[in-house]
Amino acid sequence: MKLKNDTNLPNVLVRELIRSVRPPGIEIKEVKIVNAGKHSSGSGRAYTGRGRIKVRLPRQNNPQCRAIWKPRKAYLGMAIGNRIELLIMLLAHELRHLWQGQGKGYNGPFRVEKPKPRKGMVWGSKGRFSERDADAYALHKIRQYRRGEL
Ligand SMILES: [Zn+2]
Repeated sequence: MKLKNDTNLPNVLVRELIRSVRPPGIEIKEVKIVNAGKHSSGSGRAYTGRGRIKVRLPRQNNPQCRAIWKPRKAYLGMAIGNRIELLIMLLAHELRHLWQGQGKGYNGPFRVEKPKPRKGMVWGSKGRFSERDADAYALHKIRQYRRGEL
């Protein structure tokens, strides 16, 4: 796995976090972490066909990192305590999208039928790439981290 880390967090820490939150059995080609814009509270993107994810993280552990994300559309909503929890959430969410795209029963974007959720996704997941499922996975990982289990 290639890591491109533009942030001030040490690569060792970032790799450790990726290792702790990655769903088992997936191929990750590249993780890119860049500094988010001044007023951004962070974001992520998964390029499922290429096994790549990109995360934008606030430069410092500023008040923007500590936030309650309200549920909206397919997203579950959650409380984030600090910059590391935010990074865990963004990594886990995007890596879960890679997992969603790599399992049995997904034939790529040019299929005729709408692909069904992958076995093991949370209840209420719609389609193959579910925000609800990715959020549920990320929440689970944040809770493990808070309990000292990661
Ligand atoms: Zn998503």
